[in-house]
Amino acid sequence: MTPAGATDAFVLRLTPLGEADRVVDLLTRDRGRVSALARGARRSRKRFGAALDYFHRLEVRLRRGRGDLWRLESVDLARRCTAPVGDLEAFAAASHVLEVARLGSRDGDPDPDLFDLVDAVLAALDRGGEPASLTRVFQVRALAVLGYGWDVGRCSHCGRALGPDARVAAGCAVVCARCAGPGAPVLPPGAVRTLAAAAALPLARLGSLRVDRAVDGVLEPLLARSLEAAVGTRLRSRASPRPPAGRAADD
Ligand SMILES: [Zn+2]
Repeated sequence: MTPAGATDAFVLRLTPLGEADRVVDLLTRDRGRVSALARGARRSRKRFGAALDYFHRLEVRLRRGRGDLWRLESVDLARRCTAPVGDLEAFAAASHVLEVARLGSRDGDPDPDLFDLVDAVLAALDRGGEPASLTRVFQVRALAVLGYGWDVGRCSHCGRALGPDARVAAGCAVVCARCAGPGAPVLPPGAVRTLAAAAALPLARLGSLRVDRAVDGVLEPLLARSLEAAVGTRLRSRASPRPPAGRAADD
């Protein structure tokens, strides 16, 4: 339980302000995305310690400041996340999680499901979860949390249950063969099964799914494009894309 006025948070962005201060964008569980002024955070580590950094789960105290900017009163480390330190793949995965969380959250509009997903993926990375698989699992779950209507077992046009006839339409939707236009690439059964498995995992076991490399090559462009459509912009943290099977149809 958090003390009154405190909320759990992850750092989404740290921006220097003048010589002494920082503006911290936070994903909080209770208040959604929050921008807060951290006075003295640049000049001295005394006040906020080393805790005020990316990937760690924090407990922060916030006070209303001027306008939309909150004041960061204190920061406590609730769970350290060290997996991204010295591991480029884990760093890339964790950075991707935070970028999607930043773009998919709104100021003052709490989304506990998004917070809990970010929390679960970073915790799984820290327990040694495989970064590429966890990234794919995160993307499947993020699409659902962001309300992008991903029901992985059904055609996104007509709602029919998908069988071995699943196709990829317009780069970022899974449809049945009847709804697919001519030449729409087939989504292999292994990829359909992986999507369903990722969607069904309990949060505490997100790291237990290993995504096959061949399947990953099909899912990466599909999920990345779907997420970009969901957040409305290109993702800078998108893992270096491997070309999809068949024709390379990038924009
Ligand atoms: Zn259909």
